[in-house]
Amino acid sequence: MIQSILKFIFPPLCLHCEAETERLFCKGCQGFFELIQPQGRCVCCFQESSTRGPCANCLKEKRWHIQCSAALDDCAPTRTFMQKVQQGHSPHLIKSAASFMVAQYTCLGWPSPDLLIPLTRLLFFRKNDSSYLLAKEIGKYLEVPVSPSLFHIKKNKWVLWPRFVAEEKVVLLIHPKSVSPEEIDILYEALYTSFPKRIYLLSLLGRSLAPHA
Ligand SMILES: [Zn+2]
Ligand SMILES: [Zn+2]
Repeated sequence: MIQSILKFIFPPLCLHCEAETERLFCKGCQGFFELIQPQGRCVCCFQESSTRGPCANCLKEKRWHIQCSAALDDCAPTRTFMQKVQQGHSPHLIKSAASFMVAQYTCLGWPSPDLLIPLTRLLFFRKNDSSYLLAKEIGKYLEVPVSPSLFHIKKNKWVLWPRFVAEEKVVLLIHPKSVSPEEIDILYEALYTSFPKRIYLLSLLGRSLAPHA
């Protein structure tokens, strides 16, 4: 009885299109939640590429220090999902997002990371920064420590926590949204002084190759 009253007052609606559903998203929207196939994408900037390994642009720019990938394509329902995740208020949404990212990490066959670094802002990371919450959740799955040590302080400026060292470590950067090739360069510039062995970047949402839904 109470359940049906609650259902009447708060009908369970799809987070994106508000169609009635028992799940977070309706059947129509769920179809967009498929892991991106990394084939046909550059391993460095994750843009479309017909070659294996770095694309022509990454080779030209010598951008091969960070390998990037994303779990879900950027389309309207997945963007709504990411926006809700970015609000950082819902632990079950963070958990679902982290599961997609862990699944994609496994599919990519990347090596086990030694360290997760959320790409986060300096002041608010402990409260509800979505990068930090995602990294914490992914860290639990992969049993890897999380180190918030790289901070976005202003446009095109990332700083490393003073004296942070990742010597000989495989570092996995975590962010809800894909990062532009230029930002990848800026991140590497900030990170390389900590001497990591290899750097990977995984985001929840990647850039879509198809026109946006
Ligand atoms: Zn829907
Ligand atoms: Zn590339």
